[in-house]
Order: sequence, then structure tokens, then C-alpha cells
Amino acid sequence: MEYRYIFGPVPSRRLGISLGVDLIPPKTCSYNCIYCESGKTTNLTVERREYVPLNDVLKELDGILKTHPRLDFVTYSGSGEPTLYSRISEVTRFVKENYPEYKTALLTNGSLFHDEKVRRDCLDIDVVIPSLDCAGETEFKKVDRPHHSLSAAVVNEGIAKFRTEYTGQIWLEIFIVPGINDTDEEIGRINAEIAKIRPDKIQLNTLDRPGAVDWIRPADDIRMQEIAGKLRHDNIEIAGKPATRSSNKAYSGDISDVILRTVRRRPCTLDDIVKITGLHMNEVNKYLGVLVAEGKITEARGERGVFYRSAE
Ligand code: SF4
Repeated sequence: MEYRYIFGPVPSRRLGISLGVDLIPPKTCSYNCIYCESGKTTNLTVERREYVPLNDVLKELDGILKTHPRLDFVTYSGSGEPTLYSRISEVTRFVKENYPEYKTALLTNGSLFHDEKVRRDCLDIDVVIPSLDCAGETEFKKVDRPHHSLSAAVVNEGIAKFRTEYTGQIWLEIFIVPGINDTDEEIGRINAEIAKIRPDKIQLNTLDRPGAVDWIRPADDIRMQEIAGKLRHDNIEIAGKPATRSSNKAYSGDISDVILRTVRRRPCTLDDIVKITGLHMNEVNKYLGVLVAEGKITEARGERGVFYRSAE
């Protein structure tokens, strides 16, 4: 069976062994984040639709889950914003009713939680990981470059409202872009939002792969520790370096070999590797991070985007 909407299991630094479910065609999103690993948003929208046929998604999920793979999570993630998928609750219901042994997780930018229907559609998901990159409107527009109908105030209020209705775990992700959302003023505003959202955990992240723009740089380890010290929460995790993923149980030496063989033939962009190997963009991204960290491949920005080449 050829899979179009399911990928992995992938080694996820946050979710262990994660089976990805991609409900949105690339690159459809309500944001166009400067740090996005999936490249520029080509369809910037807040319109919810059945972007891919539900029956095909369920058929693929059934095909994999009936083999009883070892998984920590079935995760809605992929090349866009999963809550834009209007039938997401039916996917969760399918997993709960047919494979109750598996937990579900949602990676979301949280931008649509101001919509009551979206909040209702996500209530049965076990772990929700929304982003809260910025609380100031100027910072929000610079980092997340949202659809014109969205503001930081509306988005963050929506996430806080979701907290009051949802009984599962919320792990709030904050992506640090040095010079924009790490000022004392902005951290103060973010702290005010954290107090309203009351997440179970905060995951602090910074760039580990080239983003959608070339000027963005990661925050170094010391800066990340400093910021963690300023955030008011007692459960803050700083995202690990990609190389640690190679010890993850889901890490596949076969997949990293396929990617290495591909870039050994000629330098490739992420899109090239996806086309040549048939692997999912998110899956390729996870392995590229490890291979770069291990010094097996190098990355450099060229005319068509970031190119990966063998370092051997
Ligand atoms: S990082 Fe997430 S929210 Fe931001 S543009 Fe990429 S897919 Fe959309």
C-alpha cells in the first residue's frame, strides 16, 4: 500500500515514536513563519475544508494500525496547519473507536482556537501542542507572518479558552527568534499569556534547521537557559539537539542511508529529496537534522533554497 497521508513512524524529540498524519496539502497554513522548515506558505488561509479525502486517510491509518506498530503517538502534523482540516475530529474518533491503545497528539499553531467549532473538534485529542511565539502584535507579525484576519490577542485568547474546556495535556511551544521575541518586554507579555493558558509543560525551541528566511539565527544554549529562567512556569523543557534523535527507538538507519545516497549523487534541496525518495517532507526534515548534526552532510543556501550535499 502506498501512503500519501501517513508518514513514519518518525523519531520525534517531543513525542518519542510518532506516526505522522498529514491532513493538509503543502504548503497550506494560517501562518507563514520565518522559521518554518517546510518552506514558504503558498496558500495563506483560515478556511477550514476537507483538504484531502477523509476515507483515504482512514483507509491508510487502518492499514498501518492493524499491524499493531509500536508507537507513542499518532500525531497530526505535516506540511501545514492541521486544524484547517474540517474533519479532524472524525480521524480522532476513528482511532479512539478502533485502536484505543494508541494516543493522539496535535501539533498546531493554535491560531484557530478562537473558533468554537475548532475547539470542540480537538477535545478528544490526548496531547495538544500549540505554539505561542509572541504576545506583542509587532513581534507576532514579524515571526509568524499570519493571515490578515489574525492578531496575537485573538490567537492567544483562543488558546486560553481552549484550556478552560479541554481536560487533556497542553504542552505550549515557544519558538525563540533572537532579537525579536526574547526582549524582557516581550517575555513579560508572554508570561502574562502563560498565566492564562496554564499549560502542563512549556517546550522552548529555537532554529535547528534553515527556516523560510535566511537571516534567522538560533539562540545559543546559554541564551535559551536565560530565557527559560525568565519564563514563569515550573515545567520548562529546552528542545534537544537533533543528534540526540539518532538514539530514538524509531530512528531508521535505512532512511538515513537513502538520504545520504541521494545527496551523494548531487546536491539537493528538501523538495528534491522528497521527490526522489518518496519520503514525507517532515520525515526527511527529521533525518536531515541528525545528518547535519553528525557532520555527514552540509547545508548551504542557494538560488532554489537550501541545498544539502554529502560531506564525505
Ligand atoms: S511553522 Fe507551522 S505554523 Fe508556521 S508556517 Fe510552518 S506549518 Fe505553519
